[in-house]
Amino acid sequence: MDAELGSRGVETVCQTCEVELDRIAEVAMLTEQDLELLRQPRRRINANIPVRMDDGSVEVFPSFRVQYNDARGPMKGGIRFHPAVDEDEVDELAFLMALKCAVVDIPFGGAKGGVQVDPSALSTGELERLSRAYISEFQDDIGPQTDIPAPDVNTDGQVMAWMRDEYEQVVGRQTPGVITGKPPGLGGSKGRTTATSLGGAEVLDAFLETVDIGGDSPTVAVQGFGNVGSHLTKFLHERGYDVVAVSNADGGLHDASGLAVPALFDEHADTGDLVAAEATEIPNEELLTLDVDVLVPAAIEDQITEENMADIRADAVLEMANGPTTPTADEYLSAHGVPVVPDILANAGGVTVSYFEWVQNTTNEYWTVDRVQEKLRAQMATAFEAVAQVKAEGDGTRSWREAAYTRAVDAVLQAETYRSNIPER
Ligand code: NAD
Repeated sequence: MDAELGSRGVETVCQTCEVELDRIAEVAMLTEQDLELLRQPRRRINANIPVRMDDGSVEVFPSFRVQYNDARGPMKGGIRFHPAVDEDEVDELAFLMALKCAVVDIPFGGAKGGVQVDPSALSTGELERLSRAYISEFQDDIGPQTDIPAPDVNTDGQVMAWMRDEYEQVVGRQTPGVITGKPPGLGGSKGRTTATSLGGAEVLDAFLETVDIGGDSPTVAVQGFGNVGSHLTKFLHERGYDVVAVSNADGGLHDASGLAVPALFDEHADTGDLVAAEATEIPNEELLTLDVDVLVPAAIEDQITEENMADIRADAVLEMANGPTTPTADEYLSAHGVPVVPDILANAGGVTVSYFEWVQNTTNEYWTVDRVQEKLRAQMATAFEAVAQVKAEGDGTRSWREAAYTRAVDAVLQAETYRSNIPER
């Protein structure tokens, strides 16, 4: 591989960030000065972290923390454990976190972390030592008022608990707000598990009020039945939506008259299997092309692509996964009258409740689940309104993604202007 190129064949500057910014530069009226400020993260910190393995050997894990922007507040973003993690991926995710926090107007900037590791190959002890080593290595770079990590792919509440503990051992005092996504009982917030899905349901309700799609009981297909997809399916069913198809990595289920969601959800919670008596089994690719009112990719990135974009028959897409639609497919769908509600808005309920967790840790006052959910609903409704307003401005031709990016970038740049890092815009 060319030394200048990362694993995706792009330069190891945040080329994806540049591409995204260039896409919206015109609609968001960004100046060269704005672009220069936003094209690169503020800081990239790389480390090669040695960890003692169970057999006595030492393995060294390439590790990253990217701090994209802190104009609006302490930086915030998860830590991913995955063999394919690299600098460019972490850059891009940090950039998206900065925008996501801005779009829902929580007072955080954006960051992201990662370790190049296959966690399934580690014992519990090795996983704990790696988690602690990451914090020990980046201890000077993180903190409740500087940069607050969280879970991401392959890191969970237990990993956050080890990380909090390690940080507190290093600094010598209780610091629950150093990290979010902790288990309830160790400073975690009630309502975090379902937050992303509840936020998505709230956004979808508000979105459908602005467009002529779906009627009283909109039909929905949900790709991915993990934390986000399963709880979203349940929330949508409770709100009167007709969920006609769901899937996981093994395949999908389809029932045009509507799936029996409560039984499906309970069975999945008990056994991990997707089972519905009346439903037909379908491959994942077919779920994506079903004729439904709303298609919800809630699994992994790059699912709606050049390959299948022309086959999408849904009237709208709600992006619950991060980056499920490639830029080409996104432009194609918008041009063909299929609105795509973008990830930075649709799935921002999770980081919103992470912010609530940090507030609770900082004030030492803990909230009921009802209070968390009430505040989350209000925050998401306000964010949606703000994006809808930007979309309606000008000649009204901005896509939902362009409107969300414009609002987010405007908020970041306004904070930069107040700080005198750029001239008044
Ligand atoms: P998860 O690991 O709990 O679930 C992922 C689900 O996707 C599983 O059901 C898996 O079987 C399924 N899946 C994987 N590959 C698939 C494929 N090719 N086709 C169909 N299904 C497939 O993950 P999650 O926490 O539910 O996150 C899902 C997405 O939402 C990810 O993109 C994540 O980055 C994003 N997200 C999650 C949160 C959160 O709070 N958990 C917040 C924001 C964004």
